[in-house]
Amino acid sequence: MKKDEIAHDLKEGVKKGYCRICGEYKKLTSDHIPPKSCGNGKRVNVIINEKKFISQNGFNCRTICERCNNELLGSNYDKEFKDLYDRMESFKKSKLILTENMVIDVDTKKILRCLLGHLLATDVSGRGPIKNILRNKIDNYFLLDQYRKFVVGEIEEIKNIDVYYWYYPFDNIVLIPHFMKDVNFLDDKIPKINGSLIKIFPISLYIIKKENDVRLQHVSRLSFTDTSISLNTNQSLANKLEYFPEHVGTDWGLVLYNPENLINVER
Ligand SMILES: [Zn+2]
Repeated sequence: MKKDEIAHDLKEGVKKGYCRICGEYKKLTSDHIPPKSCGNGKRVNVIINEKKFISQNGFNCRTICERCNNELLGSNYDKEFKDLYDRMESFKKSKLILTENMVIDVDTKKILRCLLGHLLATDVSGRGPIKNILRNKIDNYFLLDQYRKFVVGEIEEIKNIDVYYWYYPFDNIVLIPHFMKDVNFLDDKIPKINGSLIKIFPISLYIIKKENDVRLQHVSRLSFTDTSISLNTNQSLANKLEYFPEHVGTDWGLVLYNPENLINVER
């Protein structure tokens, strides 16, 4: 498979395969990431592995079953995210800023289940072409397996992760289903970390396995039991964090073992 076919093959998916969320072998349907109603219905550039692919109807991929797509995400978790999106979209459009710190009541679990569910839809890590990966059973990689159990409601919390979040006012989408950061051999104080990244307006989620001793500045920690989130909308802070942490070359730049795992969508 040519590298530039990855984005195209992700969108195409397969007609029948193993759903990336529930793991069952079923007819697969096209998942919009984020939902169409959250500004994802128009022409976008999907960049994977530095190769660009144009999708005319938003960023989407046929990798999850109808039930997970419609019942789990569409008519349930997506609604919670859409509420958050609408609120921050109108905030962004209004020039009236009453406070930089926006506290928004949300069902944290629903937001997490929505975003992790859509992230799982993009996870086609494995050997060989995407079509073959989708026709084979899902590898039960620990972290992603925990996401699956949480999204389908088998567990109510993912105990071994820390979730950091911050305001992300940008249109571009950045997704990394799973990353590992190399040990910096020059400075062994920089820990080896692994986790996932989701950056979709209006929020960035940086998920790190708990055993990694990481202390981050300027970002907040999300608890599964939180009933609200607090977004600091200060523009210069947002600009500072625009490419954090995926930008290679900074202290926290992620050196990925598998760069085709980084999905960048320009919209
Ligand atoms: Zn499913």
